[in-house]
Amino acid sequence: MQTVYPFGGDARHDDPRQRDKTVTGGKGANLAEMASIGLPVPPGFTITTEESVRYLNEGEAFSDKLRADVANAIAHIERAVGKRLGDAGDPLLVSVRSGARVSMPGMMDTVLNLGLNDATVEGLAANSGHKRFAWDSYRRFIQMYSDVVLGVEHGLFEEALEIAKEDRGYFSDTELEAKDLQALVAEYKAIVERERSEPFPQDVQEQLWGAIAAVFESWDADRAKVYRRLNDIPSDWGTAVNVQAMVFGNMGETSATGVAFTRDPSTGERAYYGEWLVNAQGEDVVAGIRTPQYLTRARREAAGATLPSMEEAMPDAFAELARVFDLLETHYKDMQDIEFTVQEGTLWMLQTRNGKRTAKAALKMAVDMVAEGLIDEETAILRVDPMALDQLLHPTLDPDAARDVLAKGLPASPGAASGKIVLDADTAELWAKREEAVILVRVETSPEDIHGMHAAKGILTARGGMTSHAAVVARGMGRPCVSGASAVSINLATRTLRIGDRELQEGDVLTLDGAAGEIMAGRVATIEPQMEGDFGTLMEWADRHRRMGVRTNAETPEDCRTARQFGAEGIGLCRTEHMFFDAGRISAVRAMILADDEAGRRAALDRLLPEQRGDFAEIFRTMAGLPCTIRLLDPPLHEFMPTRDEEFDALADELNVSADHLKRRASELHEFNPMLGHRGCRLGITFPEIYEMQARAIFEAACEVTGDGGEPVVPEIMIPLVASRRELEILRVLVDRVAEEVFAERGARVDYLVGTMIELPRAALMAGEIANEARFFSFGTNDLTQTALGVSRDDAGRFLGPYVEKGIYARDPFVSLDIDGVGQLVELAAERGRATRGDIKLGICGEHGGDPQSIAFCEEVGLDYVSASPYRVPIARLAAAQAAL
Ligand code: PEP
Ligand code: MG
Repeated sequence: MQTVYPFGGDARHDDPRQRDKTVTGGKGANLAEMASIGLPVPPGFTITTEESVRYLNEGEAFSDKLRADVANAIAHIERAVGKRLGDAGDPLLVSVRSGARVSMPGMMDTVLNLGLNDATVEGLAANSGHKRFAWDSYRRFIQMYSDVVLGVEHGLFEEALEIAKEDRGYFSDTELEAKDLQALVAEYKAIVERERSEPFPQDVQEQLWGAIAAVFESWDADRAKVYRRLNDIPSDWGTAVNVQAMVFGNMGETSATGVAFTRDPSTGERAYYGEWLVNAQGEDVVAGIRTPQYLTRARREAAGATLPSMEEAMPDAFAELARVFDLLETHYKDMQDIEFTVQEGTLWMLQTRNGKRTAKAALKMAVDMVAEGLIDEETAILRVDPMALDQLLHPTLDPDAARDVLAKGLPASPGAASGKIVLDADTAELWAKREEAVILVRVETSPEDIHGMHAAKGILTARGGMTSHAAVVARGMGRPCVSGASAVSINLATRTLRIGDRELQEGDVLTLDGAAGEIMAGRVATIEPQMEGDFGTLMEWADRHRRMGVRTNAETPEDCRTARQFGAEGIGLCRTEHMFFDAGRISAVRAMILADDEAGRRAALDRLLPEQRGDFAEIFRTMAGLPCTIRLLDPPLHEFMPTRDEEFDALADELNVSADHLKRRASELHEFNPMLGHRGCRLGITFPEIYEMQARAIFEAACEVTGDGGEPVVPEIMIPLVASRRELEILRVLVDRVAEEVFAERGARVDYLVGTMIELPRAALMAGEIANEARFFSFGTNDLTQTALGVSRDDAGRFLGPYVEKGIYARDPFVSLDIDGVGQLVELAAERGRATRGDIKLGICGEHGGDPQSIAFCEEVGLDYVSASPYRVPIARLAAAQAAL
């Protein structure tokens, strides 16, 4: 198996493994692809991801084969460029970069300008004719290599640089002359020697292998682990390494570097979009250290910026770039995010990849590209990440609300967020854990801030452009972000913030409008999202291509209305116990639970009956004939027990008994494991009057609404936590009996179904038997996961994080179905249920019904529908379509 793939120069690019991202990583595969379609790519080679996995698994050692293959590949670069690595007369310099299967922006390591030492720096100066450039490159190399490979504190070099400038009375780095930089290099080397007790490596081979090892190892850096966890990236993928001839954007005024998108990644608009810097090296743009210039004239003018756009300053290179953009879009049939360098007027492509985009942009591009004939409807459906829709389903700022705008920055990631100001990532995480909404405010962000960015509702930075770390990561996470707000200055010592002439403190409330780049004091009112336009179009396409139905988990008329607006085709789970959480009602439920005898329970139930009937009638009306699955009471008792003295006192007053008596009852009812206690159908079996009341309320409401001349209501009555056929049989007979009673009283009938949840392993195993009594099954995968894994759903949060980090479960099994394990129970129950009753209706109503990966599994086992919370309904519609394609 090849360990190394050369690209560019005279490389052949004909092995399909070279274009396979699982082998050569995203960056490597695309570099090969670009080179093969004739785009200007500096020659280089990719070490496969397999080698990094081997290296990490086999005690961090390189194989002989890898060493030999790398030597050959270096020779390939040397032939193509006509320079040799380590040649003191005319040295080849290379970059060494990571490249995982999926992009992990800024998470892993990069080394530039590798190949410089005390001898080659002179050769570079002589050959390039730029002495200052050569010494600046060497300085940067020592700094980067020492940080990344040798683990020398980055700040030590920054400090030396600052002192060098101060000593000479300089303001910016660019004022340092060749001789100053030469002195600085000496100082940098002294720092390394002091910190490492050995000199900075002069041997270029040692440099090369050191850098390769560091990139391999950066896969296991803490920040990379956090990023992987947040983005569900498996820990065993490893990263490829790309070694590539350096091209220089910092060789004077005819050189430049930039990043660009073939369409606007925020709005999706079809217009070139990007940023560049004259006389700068690669990372300068992304790092957000200098605020970059606009790519096109139109953008510059729109922003009122004075520094010239690339279109104006370098018309030839820009024209070449535009040609490359068009070639790339036609080739990849998707929006591309590229990095380029112009070295003395010549354009070089350093990277291309499918660009990250906001949900809004993803929709617009998908719909536009179908209209342009670039892709078909199916591709458009597959292209939008269902989870990203979440960004569009939440409220946005009310355009008519008053705004106290403090300042404007760049509209780096759209969406609105209000929250308390926090000034560092750890505080953001801490406050967010206390359920506080926070806005993370930083000068600029780095990969070390990733956990705080995730915890925050929004991100604000004082420095950095549209492609800065903050902007890219925020867009990826769907967090609103305003970047490069230069009016913001932060004082970490006093934990205060100045925005223009206003002084604010950590903890004060800010609102961000990421689409407008506005920063506002206080909270601003919001409005509900709109379902029209591109969103509506894509949803229409999705509906045409999906097989499974999409229902919702809802128990209030308001949730039902929201879910219908989002396209729900029925209710898959109405949790009746949730109808009682309301302050006014919970006391009747408590009275029922704490009653000493049947008479006491009946008294409480009599109070609940009219309320229930009214609720059901309103839900039936709202759902207008769509199927409604109503689950009879399933209260884990502890969720309803009073806990505070005031609650006992109030209930005691109401029931005219003593508080002590109630407390005694409560302690009698106390359960050690309430999730496995007296809940679900066990309650219905032991206290049949409860389910009788509920069944009565359902049938009375159904008769009433059907009688009103609306669409006929066909209630689906669902019995929870069933483990055996007999349990269900007893309760089905009860429901049938109440139905006949109500029909006789009302002189009217409605059709109805009785079915059950499959949420216990025994129920899944006995599904063939149980199906004799059930017209439908709904998989309660929350409890099925809890019981199959033996993991308490209430306590799992405390230890599941490390479980996922260690790869014990690929994702949190309460979020994404454990397909290997719990999935077997679902599949088996579906098969056995169908074998008994061919037309049994099968659905899922656990949280997994709104998770795209789980939805794909539901399609595979042939469920009839999924049911998700209202805001997840569009996500489920799209995911169901993707699963069917
Ligand atoms: C389930 O267990 O998956 C379910 C939907 O029921 P609940 O979450 O109410 O226990
Ligand atoms: Mg359940």
